[in-house]
Amino acid sequence: MDLQVVEQVARLDGWIAEGGVVILSGAGLSTDSGIPDYRGPSGSARRSTPMTYQTFTSDPIARRRYWARSHLGWRTIGDARPNDGHRAVARWQRQGLLTGLITQNVDGLHQAGGAGDVVELHGNLARIVCLDCGELTARAELEHRLTEANPGFSAVAASINPDGDVELDDAELDGFTVVPCRSCDGTLKPDVVYFGETVPADRVATAFSLVEAARTLLVLGSSLTVMSGRRFVLRAVREGIRVAIVNRGVTRGEPYADLVIDAPLGVVLPNLAGTGDAMVTVSKSN
Ligand SMILES: [Zn+2]
Repeated sequence: MDLQVVEQVARLDGWIAEGGVVILSGAGLSTDSGIPDYRGPSGSARRSTPMTYQTFTSDPIARRRYWARSHLGWRTIGDARPNDGHRAVARWQRQGLLTGLITQNVDGLHQAGGAGDVVELHGNLARIVCLDCGELTARAELEHRLTEANPGFSAVAASINPDGDVELDDAELDGFTVVPCRSCDGTLKPDVVYFGETVPADRVATAFSLVEAARTLLVLGSSLTVMSGRRFVLRAVREGIRVAIVNRGVTRGEPYADLVIDAPLGVVLPNLAGTGDAMVTVSKSN
């Protein structure tokens, strides 16, 4: 860490030690867990356009191809493990320093890292929702059913996107068998917010109220490119709440933030003890 970053980390550590922190995390927090951030500087650009809600619900062929790719991609998403960043966040929560934890990620790694009460703005890939009867079921169970329904499906995943789909030729995907809801034969969908879909209003309201009650909004690993995340920074600024951002690369939140640390999260977060002593800890290691 260079000296400027060391000083910034010490400043942020003091803010965390004060408590009243609400966290907004994005894809950059999970890159160290092997889930690529397709918007960040280290991520490869997404090669196909993302599935939209409109296409998913209206086009059975596109839906079949989605499930085939997603079935393969789930092996990577499902095997991902929390990293030091997730564990640092869980530690601050246990120390009573957090008043809220909001994530744009759909990988469930905050919970796997030991955190609770996570507001998952965009849902969670480990849950499946039936679009017809609304029943929620576990992804693991569906994966088991898909494996049984597709004994010969052995296409190889070429790459993986954060939402768990994989790049494959359409011809390889069209033989895939999709399974329906067990209760009503309806259409199943991962319980995540797709492009073209809005985040449920009660979820957004919960997140806004957490931000408004906080002393510090700490953004971790989000470039804040889309308004879905940036609106929380704008609300914090309007309410006079301090904003800190830790992100690798440029973020759209920069003009609004009181502190921006451009450094790898895996280096910065473990050094944030939440005790106000980070300067000592970091200086000794340099
Ligand atoms: Zn159903």
